[in-house]
Amino acid sequence: MKYRNPLAAAIVILAATALVVTYAYYRPEHAVAAIIIYIVTISLLTVAVYSALLFYRKHKSTIDVETFGSVTDDLNTEIVLWSTDFSFLYMNNRMKDLLGIPRKAQVTKEDVLRAFGVTDGNADVLEKMVGVTSYETSFKDTSGKLTTIAWSTSVVRKVKKRAAYLSAGFNMTELKKMKVNLASANDFFNSSMELAEIGVIMSSDRKKYAASSETVRMFGLTSSSIDVSEFRSLIHPVDRPQFDKALRSTDDSEDVRSLEMQIRSAKGGYRWYSFRYKSIKATDNTKPLFGGALMDINEEHQKDMLIERLAYNDEVTDIPNRNKLMTEGEERFALCKNKGYSYWIVVLDIDRFHIINDTCGYDNGNKILRDFAHLICEFTRDGFAARISGDNFALLLRDNGIDEAEPADTVKKIQLGLAQLAVGDLSPLNLSCSAGYSRMPGDGDSFLEVLEHAEFALKSASISQGSICAYEPSMHDSIIGSTELEKSLALAIDNDELRLFYQPKIDLNTGKIVGVEALIRWIKPDGTIIKPDAFVPIAESSHLIGRISEFVLNEGCRQNKEWQLMGLPNIVMSINFTSTDFYQKDLADKVREALIKAGDLQPEWLEVELTETIALSDIDFAVAQMNKLRDLGVKLAMDDFGTGYSSLSYLQILPITLLKLDRSFITNIQNDTIAYEIVSSVIRIARSKGIETIAEGIENAQQEEILRRAECDLGQGYLYGKPMPADQMQTFIEENVRKFGT
Ligand code: C2E
Ligand code: MG
Ligand code: MG
Repeated sequence: MKYRNPLAAAIVILAATALVVTYAYYRPEHAVAAIIIYIVTISLLTVAVYSALLFYRKHKSTIDVETFGSVTDDLNTEIVLWSTDFSFLYMNNRMKDLLGIPRKAQVTKEDVLRAFGVTDGNADVLEKMVGVTSYETSFKDTSGKLTTIAWSTSVVRKVKKRAAYLSAGFNMTELKKMKVNLASANDFFNSSMELAEIGVIMSSDRKKYAASSETVRMFGLTSSSIDVSEFRSLIHPVDRPQFDKALRSTDDSEDVRSLEMQIRSAKGGYRWYSFRYKSIKATDNTKPLFGGALMDINEEHQKDMLIERLAYNDEVTDIPNRNKLMTEGEERFALCKNKGYSYWIVVLDIDRFHIINDTCGYDNGNKILRDFAHLICEFTRDGFAARISGDNFALLLRDNGIDEAEPADTVKKIQLGLAQLAVGDLSPLNLSCSAGYSRMPGDGDSFLEVLEHAEFALKSASISQGSICAYEPSMHDSIIGSTELEKSLALAIDNDELRLFYQPKIDLNTGKIVGVEALIRWIKPDGTIIKPDAFVPIAESSHLIGRISEFVLNEGCRQNKEWQLMGLPNIVMSINFTSTDFYQKDLADKVREALIKAGDLQPEWLEVELTETIALSDIDFAVAQMNKLRDLGVKLAMDDFGTGYSSLSYLQILPITLLKLDRSFITNIQNDTIAYEIVSSVIRIARSKGIETIAEGIENAQQEEILRRAECDLGQGYLYGKPMPADQMQTFIEENVRKFGT
């Protein structure tokens, strides 16, 4: 229409002009009138068309605004139609309501300026709004509340410098409120987390974390957005693998899981944190999430550790206790079953520890236990060590399947180390330990059973000090046997089945008998003779030894007195004491009573034999005890010299009257020059100290001759006579008197 109207007008004017020109040509007489009529008609037509056009234009714009109004009035958004010269203005009902303008009222320029929040200070707002998709302006609504609207303004019509715009608004007031609420909810959340000291980290790509403000504070982070690798570097290296595992977890169940790890804290150093985490699957509208809450549990962890220490640690030695051994052992037993591993279980017992404890005091006893604990820990490698009771310790050693002698070799090394622990006040102690061992999983169906079997083996080993014994199934019989033995030994004492046998001690220069050693025998009703090695150690460990020793002391004194009363030459009666006997506080009293009870046997005819080990386990007490016996007038012999410490320096301190050279030196003295050298030097030194010497185990004349030349005073052995009952001994003495005189 815009383009066709002028064209039509031009065609009409052209056609009309052609018509008038043609008419004037053919009728020249009417030409002037025709042209005047033509000009008047054209002028009138132009005026009419122009007026019509003006009317049309004015009419047309009014219709636009109304049409627009009818369309937008009920829209649920704010609409303002305006022109730069404010020649036409329109607001829909929603906008009018907001400004409090009656719906039917004409919109004024002021209304529009109010709608757009234009004041003197920001007069350029209108320019800025144009062409911007979202421009926020604020005004006070009818109730005085501040309303914010984001306007999107676009050009509707532009004629020369005049332009009309349509501004469509989006009411931000509620959204702003929500934002404020959201911000305060976030503050509330952050404050709660801060008060509860819970840090939160969230990640959608597992590469970057959004950290809560408490997390930032906890770990002294520089930003709330951190790389996973940066967070990982704060975790203790030991705990990183479990964190990595958690990070990799894609848990369909969305269960909350937790782990505990040490993380470098802003407080300084590593602290323990609990990390409760979960992964959340993606939905149509959300990305997958991985995140968790971090809580400082350092204090709780330390308490747990303390409880664990109390429950699983031995107070005295600070190494694991039996409880811990059980849990650790059961775990390793499972490894043996499932993975084919093998372990040795070695149970160690410090020999005669109760005596050390009684005589050296608890402080020294505890020191030995502590030192021993640390010593055995050196041999654990990837094994384990624990104190399982009083002086019993256990070692778990990995069995490499190559070296069957490994447990015994390890125990030997421990024994060497233990001997060296006797330093300072404890230096006189001859520290040794016995051991029993078994192997798992072969030696039992459970860890407890394997441990019990190692303890069985130890029981067999403890019969003699320093021995090492491997578990064997047949051992059960002998262990049961030993308890049986204990019972029947107690009965034997009641039934008077114990007897003393006597072995002569001969003066090597004169051949005369100078004494006898009383050696105990158990004679069963069927006549079987049981030697002391088979029952004295059992008696020692089961408190029967007291009764046996009492019998030996009394019977030895009585027999000697009897021989004296029979008119036989006076000889010395030697009796043997175990460690338990010797360390009794009232030993001297008991000896005095025995002498009196025997009819006043003179103390010089009684001799007490002690081994080095007994005498040296508590040197001070031993010296005091020996002095008491010496004061009584009783003689003292050091038995089996050469098998223990064999330190001649003790001859200075110990008030002994006789030194008994151990049989092991004598057995091969005729061929063994070293043994000969040792024996002759010991004899020389003892002699210089006024101590007599006796050689045990002389079985032939050659040995006797060598010892005589070495100036050994006395001899004892099968060459002169085996241990024999009292009546045979009486005959022996009588014959000796006949041969060599009194
Ligand atoms: P011991 O005190 O060293 O006793 C010497 C042992 O050597 C005795 O063994 C004796 O029979 C043996 N013997 C003596 N001469 C020879 C020899 O020429 N050749 C050989 N091969 N052996 C010889 P027995 O009687 O079996 O005593 C063994 C150990 O038992 C004793 O060693 C002693 O420590 C202990 N014992 C014996 N009787 C008693 C006792 O009444 N009380 C205590 N507490 N222990 C005792
Ligand atoms: Mg002896
Ligand atoms: Mg001996």
